[in-house]
Amino acid sequence: MLDVLIAGAGPVGLWLAAELRLHGVEVTVVERRAAPDGRSRAVGMQAGTLDTFATRGLAQRFIDRGTPVPTGHFGAATTRLDFSTVGAVHPFMLALGQSVTEQLLEEHALAVGARVLRGQEVVSLTQGPDAVEAVIRAAGSHRSVRARWVVGCDGTRSAVRQAAGIDFPGQDSTLTGWLADVELDDPPTAPLAATGPAGSFLAARIGDGVHRLAGLSTATMHRGTGEPLTLEEVREQTRALLGRDLGMRSPRWLSRYGNATRQASRYRAGRVLVAGDAAHMFFPAGGQGMNLGIQDAANLGWKLAATLQGRAPDGLLDSYDTERRPAARAVIDNTRAQLALFAAATPEQIALREVCSAALAEPRTNRQWARRIAGFDDPLPPGTAPDAHPLTGTRLAGLALNAADAPTAHPLMHHGRPLLLDLDGTRTPCTAPGLDRQAAAVNAESSHPAWRDVTAVLIRPDARIAWAGTDPDPQRRAADCRTALRALSRLV
Ligand SMILES: Cc1cc2nc3c(=O)[nH]c(=O)nc-3n(C[C@H](O)[C@H](O)[C@H](O)COP(=O)(O)OP(=O)(O)OC[C@H]3O[C@@H](n4cnc5c(N)ncnc54)[C@H](O)[C@@H]3O)c2cc1C
Repeated sequence: MLDVLIAGAGPVGLWLAAELRLHGVEVTVVERRAAPDGRSRAVGMQAGTLDTFATRGLAQRFIDRGTPVPTGHFGAATTRLDFSTVGAVHPFMLALGQSVTEQLLEEHALAVGARVLRGQEVVSLTQGPDAVEAVIRAAGSHRSVRARWVVGCDGTRSAVRQAAGIDFPGQDSTLTGWLADVELDDPPTAPLAATGPAGSFLAARIGDGVHRLAGLSTATMHRGTGEPLTLEEVREQTRALLGRDLGMRSPRWLSRYGNATRQASRYRAGRVLVAGDAAHMFFPAGGQGMNLGIQDAANLGWKLAATLQGRAPDGLLDSYDTERRPAARAVIDNTRAQLALFAAATPEQIALREVCSAALAEPRTNRQWARRIAGFDDPLPPGTAPDAHPLTGTRLAGLALNAADAPTAHPLMHHGRPLLLDLDGTRTPCTAPGLDRQAAAVNAESSHPAWRDVTAVLIRPDARIAWAGTDPDPQRRAADCRTALRALSRLV
C-alpha cells in the first residue's frame, strides 16, 4: 500500500511530493498527460514562492532560468507595485514559464525520491477506514491502487475532488481575456501595462525571445473561451489598446481564458485532500494561482507527513483547511477587484481605475498590496492565544541574521522541521525531537518594527511564525515555546 498517492504532476502536485519526501513519506504522483505540456499558463513566479523554494535551497535554480521583475501591477493600474518593500529574500517577481517551473520541480521531486508516473489518470476513488482505493487508467486498461491518503492536485476539473464528493461552488465564466505568446520586432524595454477605453493590455518578456501579450478588450470580452483567437485579432486589439502592434509575429500560443471563479467547500473529505487549482479557480490577474497552490502544498506537506507518522496532534491536518481556505478567499476577492479594473469601460469605471492608481502611490498602500500579490499577506486565522505576538501566523519576512552562512533563516530550514531562533544571544532551553537546534543563539537584525522586541522565534516548516517570544528570561520563554511546539508535533 502506498503512503500517499497524488493525482496531477502540475506545480502543486510536484511540490507536495517533494515536501512529503523530505519527511521520508513514500509518494507516487500519477499524471494523466504522457508528456509535459510545453505551453505555460503561468509566467509570473511571486517572491513568496521564491522564498518557499529558498527554505529548501532551490530558489537560485529558478532565478537562473528566469528574469527578475522588480515591480508588478494591480488591475493594470498605472502605479506599479514595488516588490522591494515586502521583506522577501528575493524581492521581485520572476518572469518564468510554467513549463520550466514544472521541469525544475519534477527534477527536484525525482531527486528526493518521489515516483512520477505519466500517462496515468485517476478515474475513481473508494474510501475505507484505513485506506483509499483509486482506479487508474493507463494505456486503455484499468488497475487499482491502495493508498493511505490521496491528494487531488489534478486541476480545476479535479476527478479526485468529484470522487470525494467535495462541492465546488461558484460562478461560471462571464468574460474572457486573451493571451498571445509571440516574438516581437519592436519589444518594450520593460514590462508594460496600458489601459484605456478599449480595455487593458500587458506585455512582458517570458524567455527564449518570446513575449507574453495579454489583454482584456471591451470589444471582444464577451467571446467564449472556446472561440478561436487569431494573430490578426491580437494585432488589432493591441493597436486599439496600445496604439502600435510591437511588430508581433511567430505566435507560439494564442488562447482565451475566462473568469470562472470557484472554491472547494472543504479541502478534506476523510482520507482525501485537494490542493491548488483542484481547490480554487479564478481569473488569472496578477499571477497568483500557481503561487497560491504552492503555498497550499507547503502548508499540507509537513502536516500530512506528521499525520502519517503518528506525530500529529489532534486537529493538525484539519488546520490545512482552516488556514488555506481563507487565503484562497482573499485571492479570489482581489482577482475580482482587478478584473473590474481590467474591464473598465464606462467613464465611471475608468475613473475608479484612476482613483485606485492614485491610492497605490501612497507608500503604505503600495507595500500592503505588493505584499498581498507577492503572497506574504495571508496570515493564519487568529489562534486561541489572545496574547499572541502580532507576528504569530505571518510568513517569515524581513529578518536578517548576522551569520555568514545564513543571511536569513531560510538556509537553516532545508531539513523541513521547525526551527527555533534565539535572537538575543541567550539560549532558549526548548529542546524536543523534530526541533533542529543548529540555529540557536543566532544574532538577528530587522529594520521592521514588528521584530523589535522579539527575543526568540519558532518557525514552522512552511516558514510561518508559530510563536514569537519577547520575554528576556530564557526559562520562561522556553515554557511558551514548548506549548507552541506541542501544537506542531505530539512528540514533545
Ligand atoms: C492564462 C493564465 C495565466 C496564468 N498566469 C499565472 C501566473 O502568471 N502566475 C500564477 O501563479 N498563476 C498563473 N495562472 C494559474 C496557474 O496556471 C494555475 O493556478 C496552476 O497551473 C495550478 O497548478 P496545479 O498544479 O494546481 O494544477 P495544474 O497546473 O492544472 O496541474 C494539474 C495536473 O493534473 C493533471 N491531471 C488532471 N486530471 C488528472 C487525473 N484525473 N489523474 C491524473 N492527473 C490528472 C493534469 O494533466 C495537470 O498536469 C495562470 C492561469 C492562466 C489560465
